[in-house]
Amino acid sequence: MDIQEKIANLRKTIELNAYKYYVEDNPILEDWEYDKLFRELKELEEKHPELITPDSPTQRVGGISDKFNQVQHKVRLYSLDNSNNSEELKAWYNRVLKDVGEQENQQLGLFSSNLADVELVSELKIDGLAVSLTYEKGIFVQGLTRGDGVIGEDITNNLKTIKAIPLKLFEPVDIEVRGEIYMPISSFDKLNKIQLENEKKPFANPRNAAAGTVRQLDPKITASRDLSIFVYVAVFDNKKPEFAKILTHSDAMDFCKKLGFRVNKYQKCKNIDEVIKYCADMSEYRKTLDYATDGVVIKVNSLPKQNELGFTSRAPKWATAFKFPPEEVWSQLQDVEFSVGRTGIVTPVAIINPVNLSGSVVSRASMYNFDEIHRLNISLYDEVLVKKAAEIIPKVVKARRTEKSQDLILPDVCPSCKTKLVEVEGEVAIYCPNKKTCPAQIKGRIEYFVSKQAMDIDGFGESIIDQLVEKGYVYRVSDLYKLSIEQFLTLDLIKDKSANNLFNAIEKSKDVLLSKFINALGIRLVGKESSDILAQNYQTIDELIKAKYDDLSQIDGIGDKMAKSIVDFFADEENLLTVKELIELGVKIKNKYSGVLDLRLKGQSFVITGTLDTLSRDEAQNKLKELGAKTPSSVSKNTTFVVVGSNPGSKATKAQELGIKILSEEDLIKIIKGE
Ligand SMILES: [Zn+2]
Repeated sequence: MDIQEKIANLRKTIELNAYKYYVEDNPILEDWEYDKLFRELKELEEKHPELITPDSPTQRVGGISDKFNQVQHKVRLYSLDNSNNSEELKAWYNRVLKDVGEQENQQLGLFSSNLADVELVSELKIDGLAVSLTYEKGIFVQGLTRGDGVIGEDITNNLKTIKAIPLKLFEPVDIEVRGEIYMPISSFDKLNKIQLENEKKPFANPRNAAAGTVRQLDPKITASRDLSIFVYVAVFDNKKPEFAKILTHSDAMDFCKKLGFRVNKYQKCKNIDEVIKYCADMSEYRKTLDYATDGVVIKVNSLPKQNELGFTSRAPKWATAFKFPPEEVWSQLQDVEFSVGRTGIVTPVAIINPVNLSGSVVSRASMYNFDEIHRLNISLYDEVLVKKAAEIIPKVVKARRTEKSQDLILPDVCPSCKTKLVEVEGEVAIYCPNKKTCPAQIKGRIEYFVSKQAMDIDGFGESIIDQLVEKGYVYRVSDLYKLSIEQFLTLDLIKDKSANNLFNAIEKSKDVLLSKFINALGIRLVGKESSDILAQNYQTIDELIKAKYDDLSQIDGIGDKMAKSIVDFFADEENLLTVKELIELGVKIKNKYSGVLDLRLKGQSFVITGTLDTLSRDEAQNKLKELGAKTPSSVSKNTTFVVVGSNPGSKATKAQELGIKILSEEDLIKIIKGE
């Protein structure tokens, strides 16, 4: 078998597995098998870059772009008119019957309408982000956001990372499909947990998370998050023979499935009564799904009839969207848990009888803070209305008394260390002021300190941290570096091997980047990204410790509140002692941003096309970026240079057209070296 054939076979198997896994939910390969084949393909392609094609599964994650181009949709995307109840559904259907009846009678030369029914198709309306995908001869060439329906943004590179979107169809047709990109609820919950751990704002709902994710300039971020798609519209040229047999919307959806697209189940309905029943069934069924839905879309099935009905100025007359009523449910308050975070803030959480809400079983609901408890006027064993709308975790929105209701006693001491709680002027939060010895705060700080984005110490789960704190081994984070293997062996379920692993993980963490070290300290309001900004502005931790409020607050991305929090943090002897100890115990902090920054290419923009001989495109781009240059993926009039390797694409031609200077690989290397 020659290389080309081998590569083609590998691609086929990998993409078929992606299809089976992400579209049919029925993978044919084990993860390790998939990884092995993928690696094999990548190695072959690295040796033979001339054989790389855009539809290769290795090309799902591309380079960073500096902005999204605005592109006009070939066919406008309309929005749908809503129907909020069965009366409105019936009214819509009667208009359809009347319009279709009149048009057909006109054609037949009849005067009275006797049209009985029009076949409809009902499908769930996914609460995500509408996109259009264009395929030429079966290859995915462009993906756009809906935008305003007329002009969308080109997010092709990000959409390519979504494995449920085929790069190559099973048949080589020209077609545009539209669908909804969404994030599964389970993945959304995980993502928000990570956001919170990194002190980043959680996404309000799966739709926002999906929208935020496909609009990342770096496709790697999109690729790292879990997105999927359901296709629900096909736009094609019905004069072409391959589409001749598609006469209904359901035919079109079946055809899309055959091409390899993920299409949700739909139901044909003989009349509006069947639709109303379907909507009622779905408003229950949707609670069992791992994706958010906000209604049912009802369409006239016949494509010729859709054509006859046409559009109003903003929406098709042949479709309507039935909206589900908002999700709220009553339950009973069993208890209120007061949990203390690493910064000492006490958060009340309602413990309720488990209820089904928007598809998940809920037994805890947020009440944010003590003020909220007063506002809700809530008592123990009240019936509480729990709502999941735009919030991350459900919240209590209303309370009503029952015979069992009892006064809710708010704690005045910390549930963890029994210190008297304090209010801070101007803040709604209530704190445990015992920063030093409150076990809940110590545990929270250690959990944060060992996390991936901080010191990245493997193996320290909740139970181990609990034991380390309860046994009194660790009280400052720096105490972690004093632990011995013997001490680990005294913990529950820890034997020789795991004790060694824990010890080694701590040793390994001693070499750390300044940005991660700053993050690990857990300064209030300072998360991963702000830590990175601080590392860019201060060469060492000592410089940061000495930083003045006025300087800090001037930094782009830091701001007043964070600056104050940083100054306060380092004004505390206890924190200074922790930093000092960490360094004495062997933590070596390196700053990837240190050294004199050479930004001599700042303001210039390099587009690379074709294959380079001596360095990969990623390497070349990284070097250019280090020198301050931008490396967008497409040529525009703002491009300074186009670097042309072997087998260049259309970018080289475009550069010539725009009169942009063309560089060889040799020229590029001279520029990078500063020769
Ligand atoms: Zn406490």
